[in-house]
Amino acid sequence: MIRILAALFAALLLAGPVQAQAQAQAQAQGTPKLKAIASFSILADIVAQIGGDKVAVATLVPAMGDAHVYQPSPADARAVASADLLVANGLNFETWLDRLVAASGFKGRRIVAAEGIRPRRLDGGHDHDHGHDHGGAKDDPHVWHDLQRMQAYVTNIANGLAAADPANADYYRARGTAYAAQLKEVDQWAAAEFARLPKAYRKAISQHDAFGYLADRYQIEFLAPQGMSTESEASAEAVARLIRQIKRQRVQAVFFENVVNPRLIEQIAREARVKVGGRLYSDALSPPGGEADSFVKMYRLNVGRLVEAMQRDS
Ligand SMILES: [Zn+2]
Repeated sequence: MIRILAALFAALLLAGPVQAQAQAQAQAQGTPKLKAIASFSILADIVAQIGGDKVAVATLVPAMGDAHVYQPSPADARAVASADLLVANGLNFETWLDRLVAASGFKGRRIVAAEGIRPRRLDGGHDHDHGHDHGGAKDDPHVWHDLQRMQAYVTNIANGLAAADPANADYYRARGTAYAAQLKEVDQWAAAEFARLPKAYRKAISQHDAFGYLADRYQIEFLAPQGMSTESEASAEAVARLIRQIKRQRVQAVFFENVVNPRLIEQIAREARVKVGGRLYSDALSPPGGEADSFVKMYRLNVGRLVEAMQRDS
């Protein structure tokens, strides 16, 4: 008994130094020092690509999650509080974020990825949603679907990481430059893919208005029964109008989205007598190991599915 107690006592004495040793060892092995938290999974991947092994990245809205209607948990507040860096999209995409940050007591640096970009505007007269209101017109927050505008996201994130961790500033800027070049390559590939299709074929339907930037970039007509946020329900009138439009214009590409319930699109496809072309990744990645677990994979997958569905014979 005495021997056991002695052993326990020795273990307790050792606990302190052992822990410090483990920490020092972990740092020597290149364990990330900078803790970043992104508001949603797509942004988290981009931060991870630029941050490399110097940054540990977590996300608030998880893979497959809908950021428009997200409800932060007490664990989210703790995660924000312990982060050095918070990366948000901006353009009023994360309507719940300010309250979460205030409640968490976060003292770190905040990066707004969309800062300085010229946003796409959606004019009023559409189904009401909760986007940023400028007398009827709203800024579209889904900038990630335009790889040209994403060059600014990459610069903002690389600069933000460099400011938060100046010792590795060159590392972040170099990775940012390489990642921006990769996005440019994907953009050129996508442009060439869509260019193979006659303009009349470049029409698609998704559930909410998430793909406006992609539509503008590659001259696609993208329609959706729901507005820029998934928060508001699609009106019966908007659904009926869309079904008439699909029939009249013979739209072939009708898609589910990974962040919303497929029921409405199923109903629309059934009534318009078209086949659903599968699933697009609108506002979130797939879980790790899935088909769209990085932003680049997600983008390529979306373009491939759109092109395939659009070139079907009508
Ligand atoms: Zn959205």
